[in-house]
Amino acid sequence: MRFSGLRVLKEGLTGNKGWGAHWRDASPREAYDVVIIGGGGHGLSTAYYLAKNHGITNVAVLEKGYLGGGNIGRNTTIVRANYMLPGNAEFYSHSLKLWEGLEQELNYNVMMSQRGQIVLFHSDGQRDALARKGNAMLGQGDDAEMLSREGVRRHLPYLDFDNARFPIYGGILQRRAGTARHDAVAWGFARGASDRGVDLIQNCEVTGIDIENGTVRGVQTTRGAIRAKKVAIIVAGRSSQVAAMAGMRLPIESHVLQAFVSEGLKPAINHVVSFGMEHFYISQSDKGGLVFGGHLDMYASYAARGNLPGVEHVMEAGMALMPMVGKAKVLRAWGGIMDMSPDGSPIIDKTPTEGLFLNCGWNYGGFKAVPASGWATAHLVATGTPHETAGKFRLDRFRTGYGLMDEEASGAQHNLH
Ligand SMILES: Cc1cc2nc3c(=O)[nH]c(=O)nc-3n(C[C@H](O)[C@H](O)[C@H](O)COP(=O)(O)OP(=O)(O)OC[C@H]3O[C@@H](n4cnc5c(N)ncnc54)[C@H](O)[C@@H]3O)c2cc1C
Repeated sequence: MRFSGLRVLKEGLTGNKGWGAHWRDASPREAYDVVIIGGGGHGLSTAYYLAKNHGITNVAVLEKGYLGGGNIGRNTTIVRANYMLPGNAEFYSHSLKLWEGLEQELNYNVMMSQRGQIVLFHSDGQRDALARKGNAMLGQGDDAEMLSREGVRRHLPYLDFDNARFPIYGGILQRRAGTARHDAVAWGFARGASDRGVDLIQNCEVTGIDIENGTVRGVQTTRGAIRAKKVAIIVAGRSSQVAAMAGMRLPIESHVLQAFVSEGLKPAINHVVSFGMEHFYISQSDKGGLVFGGHLDMYASYAARGNLPGVEHVMEAGMALMPMVGKAKVLRAWGGIMDMSPDGSPIIDKTPTEGLFLNCGWNYGGFKAVPASGWATAHLVATGTPHETAGKFRLDRFRTGYGLMDEEASGAQHNLH
């Protein structure tokens, strides 16, 4: 079933009776070449690129709930390529390029909107740091523009420019950054993978990983045992728990991150805007809701809901930056479980168990990574060697101390990244 303007027109005129299911609802088979644990954005994109780039289609994605019910459906949908350090820079640059062609690639409307992101700075020191980052982004081949205070005012006239405590000195704009519809990304990759023969199995929780003589043999699930030549753990906030099934203790802490959406409003905010003094960022969805968030709740938890001090903090930051948002009613708030690594950068690597692979450590920035992560993980699983854009995402960097990519210079404290 291909989507096109003509098809939408035809279905609209004939009662929308011709649309089929977007993917097959598969039941588990006895054995697969590859089993992917986790039906989030990264698991689904890995399955898609295993089939598309490597012709490996005897694959199952095992999801304990429903596809897209994890963080892929809970994030604030920001897509950008503004990393500075080698390792991250080329990876996120690759990801943004994949995003730019994703709708055509998947024949699916993921509502990619390159509306631009502006990160504000509020001191000379912050300006210097962001100028340096902007130069690194340009050096990587991505776009970045420094804006003066007046330049920011032209784009974002509704900000509080008279706030003496947090004066706005300027900002850095990435025009190619923006937003995409989060769950459509999961659905698009799911549909593409399923069409190529991948089994997507929902309500199938992995409860154990079978290992014999240092080699993975398969998994135990709530729907029975499944044999597999290769297994990839791609479960974001549950990474430590699932890796423990293979006897691994990961350098990952799970933390809650909240997000909020207001009632639908007329178009007011054209960009993604990030406050430079507090962790607060905002955009407006196509339905009109203001979508915004802030920092982690600051203690480790597996609860996919947040707490009131976090809510207060985000609202305060929003009011300090743009007092006009105080008039909007907040309709919903929710939380997701973030897989925080000690340097704020991800892991895509083999494990000490032969045939067992790991993809995790996305912190609160893994949505924008979904296409490149799937691309790189599929490459690793298929060929046994890291993809050139993800060669630095090694697990052993936390043991040896070599190759750490501490983008925020926060040190080895998971919740500060
Ligand atoms: C509030 C919030 C805002 C965010 N904002 C952004 C943003 O603006 N930009 C950005 O780039 N990133 C953002 N992120 C981060 C991003 O959403 C995550 O990094 C990314 O979605 C994680 O990867 P995933 O999609 O594969 O995870 P998930 O969707 O969580 O997928 C993992 C899946 O594994 C399944 N699973 C777990 N255990 C098992 C098991 N034992 N057996 C089978 N299945 C299992 C889970 O049910 C889940 O569906 C945000 C996150 C949150 C919560």
